[in-house]
Amino acid sequence: MLPTSGSTTRKLLLAFGALVALFTAASGFALARLADIHDGSHQLREAGNRVRDALELATAVRDQYAHVAHTIILGNASHVHFHEESRARVEALTRSLREQAQDEEERAWVADIQENGDALERLYRDSLLPAVLAKDHATVTAVHSQVLERVSLVQARAESLAHRFDNSIGSFEAHVGAVEHNSFRWALLLLGGATLFAIGVGIYIGNSVARPVARLSEGAARLAQGDLDTRIPENDPGELGQLAAQFNRMTEALRTHQAQLVQHEKLASVGRLAAGVAHEINNPLGVILGYVRILQRKAEGPLAEDLKVVEDEAVRCQQIVEGLLDLSRPGHGPMEKVSVRETCEDVVARLREAERLGQVEVRVEGTASAWAQPLRLRQVLLNLVRNAAEAAGTGGTVEVRIEPDKDGGASVAISDSGPGVKPEDRRRLFEPFFTTKSTGTGLGLAVSQAIAEAHGGRIEADTGPLGGARFTLRLPPASAEREAMA
Ligand code: ADP
Repeated sequence: MLPTSGSTTRKLLLAFGALVALFTAASGFALARLADIHDGSHQLREAGNRVRDALELATAVRDQYAHVAHTIILGNASHVHFHEESRARVEALTRSLREQAQDEEERAWVADIQENGDALERLYRDSLLPAVLAKDHATVTAVHSQVLERVSLVQARAESLAHRFDNSIGSFEAHVGAVEHNSFRWALLLLGGATLFAIGVGIYIGNSVARPVARLSEGAARLAQGDLDTRIPENDPGELGQLAAQFNRMTEALRTHQAQLVQHEKLASVGRLAAGVAHEINNPLGVILGYVRILQRKAEGPLAEDLKVVEDEAVRCQQIVEGLLDLSRPGHGPMEKVSVRETCEDVVARLREAERLGQVEVRVEGTASAWAQPLRLRQVLLNLVRNAAEAAGTGGTVEVRIEPDKDGGASVAISDSGPGVKPEDRRRLFEPFFTTKSTGTGLGLAVSQAIAEAHGGRIEADTGPLGGARFTLRLPPASAEREAMA
């Protein structure tokens, strides 16, 4: 079963979550630094405005003084209007500076400028202008020097303010520069880190998801082309590894089913053919054997030996025909409850009588009963025990182990001390006509497997406890109706 919420999904969510978090942090940091830089630039602009206002104030006071001087030189009131304009300009700039003053000292300087500016205005209006119009040179000279003093004071204060503001611009610039530098370094670090992390996540996804999926897809494509031996590496952790294992199991099952299908088809066609010709061949074979046996009674010497060969080969032909007929109807006959142990002992006794066991020790162990066609079951056990005895050879051992299954069925394992089955022969054991023996028909195991399957069971081959082959016949439990009949 595949887990529903897989570890790959969790890992992908984690990786993407971390990536999004990292990019969000990097963007948040960059935005905060941008806001800092924006604030700094704004303050820098304001400081620049203050410097400009202070310098303009110094210029405006000089301008105001120029109109005072013109009034004295021309000796009339023609520059009063211009003086008022300059005065208004000085007033406006003083107001602006008052609003922009940052600390007590700056505010005191602005107040000083205001006071001196007001005094300048009063001197011009109340003293200097009347004295100029009255041509009172002595007063004009006296007031002029007072005016000059006030103008110098205002100018000095305005320039001091400009200088001070200019200094603050320097420190603002240094601050903004530091923020810019820091922001750039951090943004570079975070974006570089996020990029490296993104590459890591990409490689991780490539390794843990994309590559296994590509392998699965290649495997599926090979399977679609009919390559049933295709297998996918199962070493990926998580559900993709499990999917690969499922895929391999499915391919193996498909291969086994296809092999069974081919085997059944082969058996069916062999059976159809056999059923058609067996009858025709059996009769002439019977006639040949009859005549050979009559002739054998009369013959002597080399002729008797030759007739023995003819008889043996005719018997072999009969066995082949019988085998083919068995293949065509493996499930022929009624089922009944059979003692497996009794059948095994009977089979061993019959083989011994027929001198087919030679010097081979055969042990029968365990007991169980099964639903089977007695003659068919006997035929299977006969084939398996005879093969095992032939493989074990003189002085060898065969063990027949009978065991009831937990689910009510039974199994009979026939092991021998022979050389075992070669790995390259293992897949062909149950094919009709596969034999490694010079006088074999290659039908024994094919017929036995067909009979086992007709009973709903099967025969499996592997290596047994005596070092040679082990053939295990598995018989399924009887159905409920049969149990009721018993
Ligand atoms: P046959 O006995 O006529 O060859 P079978 O179908 O009974 O036909 O057996 C097919 C082949 O399986 C044998 O030729 C032999 O190579 C192999 N075989 C069967 N039983 C054994 C066994 N117990 N040990 C080793 N090989 C075996």
